[in-house]
Amino acid sequence: MNYQQLINEVYSEVQSLQLEGIVANYIPELSNVDIHKFGISLVTTHGEVYCIGDTQEKFSLQSISKPFTLAMVFASEGEALWKRLGVEPSGNPFNSLAQLEYENGIPRNPFINAGALVITDILRSKTNTPVEDILLFIKKLTNTDNISINQKIALSEMAHSNRNKALAHLMKSFGNINSSIDELIETYCYQCAIEMACTELAQAFLLFANHGHNRLNGDQLLTISQTKRINAIMQTCGFYDEAGEFAYTVGLPGKSGVGGGIAAVLPGEFSVVVWSPGLNSKGNSAKGMKALELLTTKLGHSVF
Ligand code: GLU
Repeated sequence: MNYQQLINEVYSEVQSLQLEGIVANYIPELSNVDIHKFGISLVTTHGEVYCIGDTQEKFSLQSISKPFTLAMVFASEGEALWKRLGVEPSGNPFNSLAQLEYENGIPRNPFINAGALVITDILRSKTNTPVEDILLFIKKLTNTDNISINQKIALSEMAHSNRNKALAHLMKSFGNINSSIDELIETYCYQCAIEMACTELAQAFLLFANHGHNRLNGDQLLTISQTKRINAIMQTCGFYDEAGEFAYTVGLPGKSGVGGGIAAVLPGEFSVVVWSPGLNSKGNSAKGMKALELLTTKLGHSVF
């Protein structure tokens, strides 16, 4: 397969569709990005890198940080992790409080905000330097030191985090959060404000395409079974209320973020990242969704 030709075709077809979307603005600092940015990077499990468009420019990971923190915590906790959260799609908005109330403070899955906060809480209980540890984990996957946090975005989210604080307080009332709420929210906002370019992120996401193995340094970070399970959760819960649509039209496990990125994997073959900051009504990158649909359609290959 000529992957360069594939992503070139996808890129120009998506550009011709004039999909726009809306840049996220509920975290004010996120709205200062050029809506016309668009890049696609694909990295194979053999280490070949293909890219087109704005693939070297950093963008905010936001919820795409969540598979990495899940990987870190799952590797250390194993199945015991699932006492504190579930693996079911929520069918509710990513920051919904209602379901959490009637399900006794146990979040449905690690990718809605409540679940991600539990994962960050567990990570915080293991280390005094959670943010540095997350950065180090990602740096080792990309073999670069040039990964950092956008302070302005982190501070902007911290100043607008009433709903995430409410989720954390509610879970704490059920005994499912141990950290202080302010410290937990700070760590969470810093993790979401990590910035990476498409190619770097595709490199890091290769972990999930490569059976939990960091091909850059030989480390086995997750077992094959743990990798399968994280991919299963990404498939069913990785796209807000559009996970079914993404499975139907694209057919790859992945995770999107309100920074406009989508990272997905074809296990054993490649990871692919699309970035375009205009979001559709469900909060997923409008061009990103279309690009990945075209990619697997043209490829004639998906996990299904
Ligand atoms: N930091 C964002 C929030 O908690 C992440 C949202 C996302 O990308 O899904 O609202």
